[in-house]
Parts: sequence; C-alpha cells; structure tokens
Amino acid sequence: MKTDVQIAQESKMKPIEEIAKQLGLSREDLELYGDYKAKVSLDVLKEREDQQDGKLILVTAINPTPAGEGKTTMNIGLSMALNKIGKTAISALREPSLGPCFGIKGGAAGGGYAQVVPMEDINLHFTGDIHAITTAHNLLSALLDNHIHQGNELGIDPRRITWKRVLDMNDRALRNIVVGLGGKSNGVPREDSFDITVASEIMAILCLANDLEDLKERLGNILVAYDYNGEPVHARDLNAEGALTLLLKDALQPNLVQTLENTPAFIHGGPFANIAHGCNSVLATKMSLKLAEYTITEAGFGADLGAEKFFDIKCRFADLKPDAAVIVATVRALKLHGGVEKTELNEENLEALEIGFENLEKHIENVKGYGVPVVVAINHFPTDTDNELELVFNKCKELGVEVVHSEVWAKGGEGGIELAKKVVEVVESTPSNFKVLYDENSTIVEKAEKIAKDIYGADGVEFTQKALKEIKQIEKLGLDKMPICMAKTQYSLSDNPDLLGRPSRFKITVREIKISAGAKFLVALTGDVMTMPGLPKVPAANNMDITKDGEIKGLF
Ligand code: ADP
Ligand code: MG
Repeated sequence: MKTDVQIAQESKMKPIEEIAKQLGLSREDLELYGDYKAKVSLDVLKEREDQQDGKLILVTAINPTPAGEGKTTMNIGLSMALNKIGKTAISALREPSLGPCFGIKGGAAGGGYAQVVPMEDINLHFTGDIHAITTAHNLLSALLDNHIHQGNELGIDPRRITWKRVLDMNDRALRNIVVGLGGKSNGVPREDSFDITVASEIMAILCLANDLEDLKERLGNILVAYDYNGEPVHARDLNAEGALTLLLKDALQPNLVQTLENTPAFIHGGPFANIAHGCNSVLATKMSLKLAEYTITEAGFGADLGAEKFFDIKCRFADLKPDAAVIVATVRALKLHGGVEKTELNEENLEALEIGFENLEKHIENVKGYGVPVVVAINHFPTDTDNELELVFNKCKELGVEVVHSEVWAKGGEGGIELAKKVVEVVESTPSNFKVLYDENSTIVEKAEKIAKDIYGADGVEFTQKALKEIKQIEKLGLDKMPICMAKTQYSLSDNPDLLGRPSRFKITVREIKISAGAKFLVALTGDVMTMPGLPKVPAANNMDITKDGEIKGLF
C-alpha cells in the first residue's frame, strides 16, 4: 500500500494560477509562494461584497477515538466529489501545526486519495503564517518584559502576567520556566511558560478577524496582565497593536492550494479546538463562499467541541449561516465507543456497535438542534462487515437521518459521489434554520450550563471556588457578555476521557475561566487541558527523512 506522501508526490499538480483561474481569479489577485501555493488578496472579498454566497457545509464527527475518524479526509473527498458531479466546491481547512506533526498525529492534510497538495509544504512551513503568529506573539511578550525592565510605568504585577510565550513545537520542557535571570541588565526575573503557537490567542484572533482593522482592534484588546491595583493591562497599553498587525499583514490573507484532483482548497489558520474555536479563518470561509457554489469546512475534534464552537463562536461573530453538516463516523470508532478493545476492532461485533452508536446519535441530535440539516458519512475501512454497515444504516434510518457510505480515502472523489449527491439533495430540499445555542448576554453560569446540558448531556456544571472568583472579576471588568469557549477533553461527551459512548448522570467541573478579550470569548477550562503538548516515546519525527535526491519519507 502506498503512503500518503507517495500518493501525493505521484499526483500531477497544476500551477496555482490555473486553479485560481477556475475560480475567476486573476494573477493580480494572487501573491505567489512558488508554483503551487498562493495568498489571495483580501480585495477579492471586497470586490464581491454584493454577490450572493454559496452554500456552507460543515464537516464534523463523533468523539474522536484512537481508531481515527477522518474529518479532513472526508472534507477533501466531498469537495472533489462535488466537482465531479458538476458543482464548484472548495475545501476550507485549518493549517497543520508542526508540533503534532512530529509527535503522534503526523500530517493533517487529509489521507490516501483525498489529500491537499503540496502536502509536505502544507505540513511543514507552508506560507509561514504560523511562524508569523509565533513572532507576533513573542514580540508582545518581549514588549511586556521590556516595559517592566525599563521602569514599569504601568505598574504591571510580574506575578499576574497572563501572556505567555509560544513556539510551534511539542516541547514539554518549556511548560514552566523562569525568565530574566542573570542580574540587573537581563530583565526582571519571573515565572513564565510556553504554549504551542496554535494555542496562542493571536491564532484565534487572526481566524476571527474580518479585516486588517478588526485584526488591529482585537490585538490591542488582548489582556496581558494586571497591575498592582488589580486593573487589567492590555496590548494597546504597551502600544503593541500596530507592530503586531504589521507582522501579520501577509498571514491574514487566505492560502490557496489544490487537492489531488486539482480542485481548489483554502488552508488558512489553525486554532486549537479546546482553548480556542478550532476552525479555519473567517476570511478564508467568506472568500470561498464568494467563489464557489459549495464551501466545505471543518471544525476540530467531535461535534461537542468543534461544531458547537463553529456555530456559537465563528458563525455568531462572522454572521455565517451553515446550510448542512456532515457528521463523520467509522464502524471501528463506534465499536470503541461501545466498549471494544482497540486490539479487537477487526472482529465483527454488532452488540458493541449498537451501544457505541449512541455517541453518534447524540451528535446528530445536537447538530439538528442548531437547525442545520445532517448527513451522516460512514468513512469506510476494509474491516467493516456488511452486517455492521447494515446496522448503522438501519439505526440512522430509524432516527430519520440521511446516511451515506463513503470511500474517499481509497478512491478519491469517485468514492464520495454518493455523499456529494446526498449533500446537494439535502441542501436543495431542506432549508437550514440555523440559530445559535445561547444568548451571549446571559450570565457565564447560564451559558456554561446550557452548553453542558444541551450538548454534552450533563446534569449541570460545578464551578470551583477559583472559577467563581474569576466570574466575579470578569463581571466587574464588564467582559462577561462574550461567548464561552469550552475547553474539555475531546474523547468523551463528558469531562472524563474514559466515559465513552453516550454517558449520562454526570456533571462537568469548570475549574478556571480565562479571558480572551482580543478573540472576544471566555475560555472555561474543565479537566486538564494541555496547551503545550509533549512528544511521545517514539516521536513521528524519528521516522522522517529526506534522501540526497530529495525524496521525502515518513510524513505519513
Ligand atoms: P481528522 O481530520 O478527523 O483528524 P484525518 O482526515 O486527518 O482525521 O484522518 C486521520 C488519519 O486517518 C489520516 O492519517 C488518514 O489518512 C487516515 N484515514 C482516514 N480515513 C481512512 C480510511 N477510510 N482508511 C484508512 N485510513 C484512513
Ligand atoms: Mg482534521
């Protein structure tokens, strides 16, 4: 069997100018990054302000398991299949982060015959957006420490600095550090720490910004610390927002690439789906809506985290109206949710499948609750038996939800034609009545309870003393009227990663609430959420190589 990178390298890419031309874009609209990547000018959006938008389709999934679900693969396969049936379609996806790429996950540019290319570039430095975010983030850190060193006119309390440093690498040794050591000329010593760049608030801001002006305003609003009187200190108090915006001027433009079948794809921005909202940039989505009949986008993790935030944060802010959602599930993953051991997944097990199906059922209910029509896509694996597929199909039919079997990983667009036809049929016959889940003006407690009860199926939310104190402080600052971004384990509908399937009779615990004033949401942390991952015992990096002839190995 061929590896992803082999399949990708055998593909025949078209010059990116040709791909752009298919969308009605000219050379002047592009800033070329080599032959196969381009940034697209934001003027493209302005010039088409009055044009009607195409349809917006979200690809989401059941709660992730080690068996893999394949959202990105399905997203790319669906857009290729839509092109095959005569619709113009664009995939709008997140940029992969280098940290997980060298860790466990490997690349994030799809898989098999449903990939975006050049996959090695997309997975590595790409057009430098993530590097630009790292630099902008760390400039703010440097300005802050320098301010304290130069006399601390703002009276910043070094014990109450909330702005960390970032690096796009899984490096656990940087989780807790001390900076400013070495005497008077080397700054003021204080405890500090590193997050991975995709966890930076600047990543979330870039992905939510509507234009350069909005970007600058949001960057200025970042809350970096408190002073000795407990008053907030913002990036704008350090006069930082101009330089930060300047550093991000190119990164703000969406990146255009292509799929293995030469259909267009925007890959732009990649915030975490726990402490941030987990979707590609608003600008890429909006641009795509102007350029194609169908935009296929993705939200990270399962629908409890990714889709909820896509709807309640991204769509709310950007005034987007999704037309349908595809929920990806695999028979293998459903069996895992039904209690089967990872080693036993190749065996038919209808009982476990039936139990595990409850996880999918909850996500179907949730997405329908937003008023968005649903199509379930079963991502085919060779180990799926006919009996198992029949069971999943019958159960979906009992629920009155459309279900399609898809083989885009093995067959590319050809393997997704049935899915594409179903999506078109659903979009054309069922109007979306999209509405957000909660009123952002309700209290923090009300908003968190609404998400926990309606989406997770919890009995309620418990707040620690620390969280309750923070809520008071946030209310005092007048920042409580923002959407809530729940940081929760992706593996379970609950905040306990071991509770698979569809757990009931549980409460979730919010232990801390963080303010992302620039991104304009509040992050409610449940359980332990890692913002600087570590590498596993055998990192994926150990299997990567490039030969003297330039042949790339190990990028999955
Ligand atoms: P997600 O976006 O949900 O994280 P991806 O689409 O990135 O998932 O897929 C995760 C991994 O699973 C990738 O390495 C991909 O190649 C692989 N994969 C996806 N679908 C299949 C399939 N049907 N058969 C085998 N491997 C698959
Ligand atoms: Mg993905």
